[in-house]
Amino acid sequence: MENKLRIYNTLTRKVEQFIPNEEGKVGMYTCGPTVYHFAHIGNLRSYIMEDLLEKTLRYIGYDVKRVMNITDVGHLSSDADTGEDKMLKGAKREHKTVMEIAKFYTDAFFADCADLNIKTPDVVEPATNCISEFIRMIEGLLEKGYAYESGGNIYFDTSKLKEYYVLSNHSEEELLVGVRDDVDEDGNKRNKTDFVLWFTKSKFEDQELKWESPWGLGYPGWHIECSCISMKHLGEYMDIHCGGVDNIFPHHTNEIAQSEAYLGHKWCNYWVHVHHLNDKAGKMSKSKGEFLTVSLLKSKGYDPKVYRLFCLQSHYRKPLEFSFDALDNARAAYEKLVKRIGGLGKEGEADREKAELYRQKFQAALCDDLNSSMALTVLYDMLKEEMSDATKYALAEDFDKVLSLDLTTAYAEKEADSGVDAEMESYILEKIEERKAAKKEKNFARADEIRAELLEKGIILEDTREGVKWKKA
Ligand code: AMP
Ligand code: ZN
Repeated sequence: MENKLRIYNTLTRKVEQFIPNEEGKVGMYTCGPTVYHFAHIGNLRSYIMEDLLEKTLRYIGYDVKRVMNITDVGHLSSDADTGEDKMLKGAKREHKTVMEIAKFYTDAFFADCADLNIKTPDVVEPATNCISEFIRMIEGLLEKGYAYESGGNIYFDTSKLKEYYVLSNHSEEELLVGVRDDVDEDGNKRNKTDFVLWFTKSKFEDQELKWESPWGLGYPGWHIECSCISMKHLGEYMDIHCGGVDNIFPHHTNEIAQSEAYLGHKWCNYWVHVHHLNDKAGKMSKSKGEFLTVSLLKSKGYDPKVYRLFCLQSHYRKPLEFSFDALDNARAAYEKLVKRIGGLGKEGEADREKAELYRQKFQAALCDDLNSSMALTVLYDMLKEEMSDATKYALAEDFDKVLSLDLTTAYAEKEADSGVDAEMESYILEKIEERKAAKKEKNFARADEIRAELLEKGIILEDTREGVKWKKA
């Protein structure tokens, strides 16, 4: 593997050469969704960029095993073990059982992933499948003196660790802000940063899912699931663990604490975190009422791959601000790109030497801490290069193994769907823009004229709340 991956490791706060535990193989774990609601497009930014990482690893020749959990129990409204159980909240909101909610939103999550060409991990495991494993690990932590029982719950004792804040360089004071609510509420804890491994004293009378345990009927805390599920499928040593930056504290910090206390050795070497998608009001979140979903984008006429391209245009370690104007720019870029590739002929000799050069450049961009915008630049440069269409087509197909934008198929599919050819489509779009401009200038006569011109050509315009749409008469 000449082109080795260099990636930013939150653990060391440096871009590092990636070296897996076992040559040629990668064990990768991703924190999955909490399935109490639809995923918003912010969550999906994380999954798109993690998909890019997995596909880059495969592209450069690694044999990847990727595992993801589904959080269907234990995640409370605040990451710091306070507030209502998110699943219970979802069930109450929709007058359904927790398991019905989990099934519905798990299916919805994978439907969104399919729309965004996000590959399903090799192993997907819901937390509720692994209760006996959680109990075994908690027993192990109690035996080793890293956990204690207090007020009916089992807590992890963070004071037993030499170092707790391994993942973040925040000061202790700063981090405690995140758990401050807990300080007031949970007098059972010995230390402010201790966290719940198992609840038997549920704060909620109607907590739906409970299991027998050596400590009484109860349910697991949130963090234990990721430690157990990853160890179940990837063993005691893991190469890469990913998530959004909000997972760094407390979730990933607590995962490391309990896993390394339990195993007695270092657990995971590389921690990769995707920065947030923000809207004008700040971090996109589900608790803020209406939020943006893939279905919403689709209902506004956006192909979900446009959102994937929008994400790939920016580096995963920079916050990304979402706006519909920015998405419109990505749509224009996407349409132009797939049209360009769709118009390539497939005949002719492939120029192996040039193709190899571009493959190397593409790979180098991705291996440079997943520089996806540079990888896209390589794609654009390649399309401008003096070489046969066949070579370009083959390269586009090859790059799409990682970019997953349907580069070679999207255009033909779109043409078949809309029933008009490329030339006609760009004519229609041009006329729509001209009509928009006429309306802006209050030249309604011209706007009507354009509508009539299009109708004569068999195209009907519709003014909708989401903008102008067109269809064949
Ligand atoms: P959740 O379903 O809340 O457990 O979150 C699923 C994933 O989305 C986690 O990896 C989070 O870190 C990530 N995430 C949450 N909010 C955002 C956001 N606004 N932008 C990017 N990723 C996010
Ligand atoms: Zn997790």
